[in-house]
Amino acid sequence: MTGDGNRKADRIIPFASFEVMHREIREEMYRKFQEVYEKNWFIQGAETTLFEKEFAVYHGMSHCIGVGNGLDALFLTLKALGISQGDEVLIPSNTFIATALAVSYTGATPVLVEPDMETYNLSGEGLEEALTERTKAVLPVHLYGQPAEMDPILEFAERHGLYVVEDCAQAHGACYKGKKTGTFGIAGCFSFYPGKNLGALGDAGAVLTNDDELAEKIRALGNYGSRKKYEHICQGNNSRLDEMQAGFLRIKLKHLDRYNVYRNQVADRYLGEIRNPKLVLPKIGRDRTHVWHIFAVLCEERDRLQTYLAERGIQTVCHYPVPIQEQVAYRSVISGKYPVAKKISSQELSLPMYYGMAEEDVSEVIWCLNAF
Ligand SMILES: *Cc1c(COP(=O)(O)O)cnc(C)c1O
Repeated sequence: MTGDGNRKADRIIPFASFEVMHREIREEMYRKFQEVYEKNWFIQGAETTLFEKEFAVYHGMSHCIGVGNGLDALFLTLKALGISQGDEVLIPSNTFIATALAVSYTGATPVLVEPDMETYNLSGEGLEEALTERTKAVLPVHLYGQPAEMDPILEFAERHGLYVVEDCAQAHGACYKGKKTGTFGIAGCFSFYPGKNLGALGDAGAVLTNDDELAEKIRALGNYGSRKKYEHICQGNNSRLDEMQAGFLRIKLKHLDRYNVYRNQVADRYLGEIRNPKLVLPKIGRDRTHVWHIFAVLCEERDRLQTYLAERGIQTVCHYPVPIQEQVAYRSVISGKYPVAKKISSQELSLPMYYGMAEEDVSEVIWCLNAF
């Protein structure tokens, strides 16, 4: 194949694929299915307890609470912290809508703060301006797999007595100054949606914390407000990690670091070999390891680029094409302009990125991009 970008679309290069990952662990996953199936115990059992232990140990944290999904991990944490109507929570303006919804579900108001244009994450800038006497928490998102700049965020929160809750849904295993994301704030919230760096075979999520009382509250809130069967201390939800998903996650957790190393190898090639002045490549902030949940490029002609790649059999996705302030669900709630979020939403394109992506496919994506 030459470098003229005339790739034939006879073989699709997908945006994401489980093919290699799931082939490698197929036998182990099948055995786990059988094991759980034969045990006839599907909710609140040994697999969930073991996964919680293993995920906590992986992070050096004292508690992990399995929940139904990432949105619930955030929502139940905020609710357990007592955040409610009249309160405000600072979130990045360019995050996935789940971050805002988690705040809204508590009755509180999400307040958007523009991210840093280099890393697409909160960096500490803009937090003071967004602060009011109603602000109760700041919710940094480690978007795309890159840790937010935690030191200034933690300092700001400390100075004003705010909780820090981390949205780690895209950053399993990422580090800031050698410490894993999810270990900085009062709690770290994870999604194990199948396409995340650590993904179940369905919906799943978890919260990490070192706070004993908070852990107990979140666990009760996710289980009908109950600590002891049929005794309900609060009006809780039903949001639990089930045995089947916990079993599958235990298997994948053993490989998470290896999966992330692979994604870094793909990212290194993109960063080293994509040379096109029409594209802005992602930058990694100091003292951070990126886990490349998403390899995001910016391009002023984003839609034309996406069509050009699709015509050559290369699938891409926009994360996210409509910013929160323009969503029907939020445009009457959120006023103010968020030009950084707007710019990212209109220029962002996510390139194919997954564990097991063939070297040759990485090369073909690079060739096509360089010929655009
Ligand atoms: C995926 C995601 C969530 C929500 O996770 P679900 O498991 O889908 O509920 C929250 N925040 C961010 C940044 C995400 O990417």
